[in-house]
Amino acid sequence: MTVDVEPTVTSAKVSGSGAAGGAGAASDVAWHHRHLIDLDVVTWPEIELIMDITDQMKGILARPIRKVPALNGRRVTTLFYEASTRTRVSFEAAARNLSADVVSVSTATSSVTKGESLVDTVRTLEALGAEILVMRHSVSGAPYLAAEVFGGHVLNGGDGWHAHPTQALLDLYTMRQHLPGGDLRGRKVVIVGDILHSRVARSNIWSLTAAGADLWLCGPSTLLRGFDRWAAAWDGGAIPGHGRFQVTSDVEAALRDADVVMALRIQRERMQGGLLPSLREYAARFGINAERISLAKPEAIVMHPGPMNEGVEIAPDVAVSGRAVITEQVANGVAVRMALLYLLAGAHEAAHVGEVVR
Ligand code: ASP
Repeated sequence: MTVDVEPTVTSAKVSGSGAAGGAGAASDVAWHHRHLIDLDVVTWPEIELIMDITDQMKGILARPIRKVPALNGRRVTTLFYEASTRTRVSFEAAARNLSADVVSVSTATSSVTKGESLVDTVRTLEALGAEILVMRHSVSGAPYLAAEVFGGHVLNGGDGWHAHPTQALLDLYTMRQHLPGGDLRGRKVVIVGDILHSRVARSNIWSLTAAGADLWLCGPSTLLRGFDRWAAAWDGGAIPGHGRFQVTSDVEAALRDADVVMALRIQRERMQGGLLPSLREYAARFGINAERISLAKPEAIVMHPGPMNEGVEIAPDVAVSGRAVITEQVANGVAVRMALLYLLAGAHEAAHVGEVVR
């Protein structure tokens, strides 16, 4: 499809059979989601639609003037209850690139510090004109509560340990750019680190199994707790024909012949005592260093959602090596978020003609 300057497009021709990672007959895909809170309800053709529109947004970002009027007059509000650099800045840049009006609420200087509840804050922001609410919260599930009381669209910028859908989508987009034919089917993708506390890992499970990747989650057993049972019971949610994933504490086995290695931050702020003997020991046993990365395929890429603890989960030389695509991830985040704002704004338009089913 071609991204028009009008924000009313909700469907597009993309290839996809509906099966995991599916290449197949072209099908019309409509965007039905009013909110984007996680990828568990997003089908593979819908993910392909997002990827397709992201391509178009990359085209806009490559222009000398990276601004289109698609969301002119639409109001995007960011509400972040947790620290963020790249997610917040890239959402705001994405909204501005589409000519939306952006309001940025800092909870540290808002009435939240006077005890205002999430529900009251969301109602207040809606009364002040918010149409798309991008939020981050330390409590898993907080965006569902916001979506219950908000008349517009909620876009999750990360909630607790639960989900970070735009990160998983920008990760997928970046992997597709580097893998031959943009095809992840059968490709070994390894996520190493603090899986337990990671909303990035949880959202990536949905998208990467949908893409048909051979997905491995790796870390100390204390930071994988529960994931083995999830892997065994995995049914892929809304994604027909999804792949499976596996968990292991054997970092060498995980890295061997990998196509993609993603290191995750050790989340000290969410860590209860006793899960790790020490950061030094973690770095020695699981850190992605030059020696370990040599087990992966020679063309393997190294990713990290940031912020990095260099010298802990990733060695500084690996983080800046030719394999690392970490700054590409950040840049792709703007395009992916433009695509999602665009789709949600279109779904909002469609609501007037009764097309939105969710
Ligand atoms: N920035 C990512 C997140 O917000 C990863 C991290 O914090 O480690 O989940």
